[in-house]
Amino acid sequence: MDVTRPAALADSATELAPLATAAATDGAAVAALIERIVRGLERGSRGWTPARKKDSLQRVLDGSRSDLRRLHQRVTQLVISWDGEPSALAGVDTSPALAGVETSPAPAGVDTAPAPAGVETPAAAAAAPAWNGVVTTLAATVQRALPDQGAAQHEVAQALAALLLQLQETGPTPALIDALERLCQRAATVLQHRHHLLGQLSSLCSELTASLTDLAENDSWAQGQCARMRVTLDEGLSARGVRAVSELLRDTRERQSRLRVERETARDSLKGLIHRMLSELDELGSQTGNFHASVGRYAEVIAQADSIESLAGVVREMVVESRSVQALVQQTQARLHEEHTRASGLTQRVNELESEMRRLSDEVTTDPLTQIANRRGLMQAFDALRAGHQRSGNALAVGLLDIDNFKRLNDELGHGVGDEALRALAETVGRTLRPTDVVARYGGEEFVVLLPDTPADEGQQILTRLQRSLSGGLFLHEEKQVLVTFSAGVTAYREGEAIETALERADQALYEAKRTGKNRTCLA
Ligand code: GH3
Ligand code: MG
Ligand code: MG
Repeated sequence: MDVTRPAALADSATELAPLATAAATDGAAVAALIERIVRGLERGSRGWTPARKKDSLQRVLDGSRSDLRRLHQRVTQLVISWDGEPSALAGVDTSPALAGVETSPAPAGVDTAPAPAGVETPAAAAAAPAWNGVVTTLAATVQRALPDQGAAQHEVAQALAALLLQLQETGPTPALIDALERLCQRAATVLQHRHHLLGQLSSLCSELTASLTDLAENDSWAQGQCARMRVTLDEGLSARGVRAVSELLRDTRERQSRLRVERETARDSLKGLIHRMLSELDELGSQTGNFHASVGRYAEVIAQADSIESLAGVVREMVVESRSVQALVQQTQARLHEEHTRASGLTQRVNELESEMRRLSDEVTTDPLTQIANRRGLMQAFDALRAGHQRSGNALAVGLLDIDNFKRLNDELGHGVGDEALRALAETVGRTLRPTDVVARYGGEEFVVLLPDTPADEGQQILTRLQRSLSGGLFLHEEKQVLVTFSAGVTAYREGEAIETALERADQALYEAKRTGKNRTCLA
């Protein structure tokens, strides 16, 4: 195959480069890619046996199936490389032996104008595929970095794809290099704007945090959340930190809002009671007011009475009326006493609910579902362990666990069984580890373990043993064992770093464990 301008490469580039920019969910783009894969598998290529093609395709599928965009991009690059390109895929062995490419000098066409297509020097001809591969990877990286939305970014992505095509057709001419350079500057502007936006978002979050307490009905109910948000913002924005705070806020808000409804009901009942007590008092007041008027009237009748009989009649009336007023006063007194008791009970309930809301904000350290530490509890435990680590200098292993295919388990057996799996796994991990180890639920189906006095490779062995022990099933559902596996990443805590930094490292190792087949533990 002519490496300066392979005909098959022209076809693949023409068809595939626009696909790289199209949304990976575009059916037409996916269909075209599948057709290319089929044709690519059928066609013979230099240095690629059919088995090698299938193997490389399998590895790309295994490594990228969790991210549609990435999968689309990497398969696109792979199919291009079958047509004569060297590998543009980091970590995937896609290229056949192209010894000349690897040992050839730096691409000649970058600094000097290359010979026109078809008349290139042997060195340039050998370097061209390598150069194209690098640029393809770089272009794909820039396209991934560009935000999904916005006309400017779409334009840059399309221009990049077009330039890439041209580059593959003609090789690196000065005009093309110039155009690429200008495009890179445009991409840099878009990305800088993105960073600026992130900075602004961060300030907005700080403002919101500051005003949250003002907005809250009672500032003490939001203080815990605000403190946690401030700590996260001060640490600088990281995806993990932002997600952690969002989940904490959502969880606390949901629990507080349930309490708030109950408190509103209690408060409304209390208001109704007070209202009824007031009307009772009003009624009593008008009855005793009537009695007062009657007493004045009786006094006049007595003064003018001219016989014992008329006096006796007035006295009888007075006795009857005063008895009925006395009975009314007694009844009202009893009712008021009763209602006062209920009002006290309701007031006490309102107070209890309000202090529960305060407690939720201040002391949310336990995950209600699994009853192990939540993220806040983990931070507290970590602070204590860090002090010990500083004193003794002993190793501290940090592990991040994520249940495998948990969404499928939820879908197939129901959310309730998913919850049971979380509880059972938390219980099993807690029981298996030493009492001095810490296990916490870090979010959805993620757990963190802190293993004091444990080097990272030993931590890896401990978690691997735990993984093997789960192979018999975690718990029974409808009399059948439910199989649950998890993947994990372990790292050694480094003196002075924030736990989030260690967790980012553990997360990378966890990603590696997922990528390489799940149900295993990798080291970072
Ligand atoms: P992977 O092996 O790549 O980790 O795949 P996954 O399915 O485990 O990961 P994904 O992130 O796609 O799905 C996580 C699922 O966990 C989705 C969500 O519904 C579920 N989940 C999160 N929190 C809970 C919970 O408290 N209870 C239940 N039952 N499910 C939860
Ligand atoms: Mg997860
Ligand atoms: Mg998972």
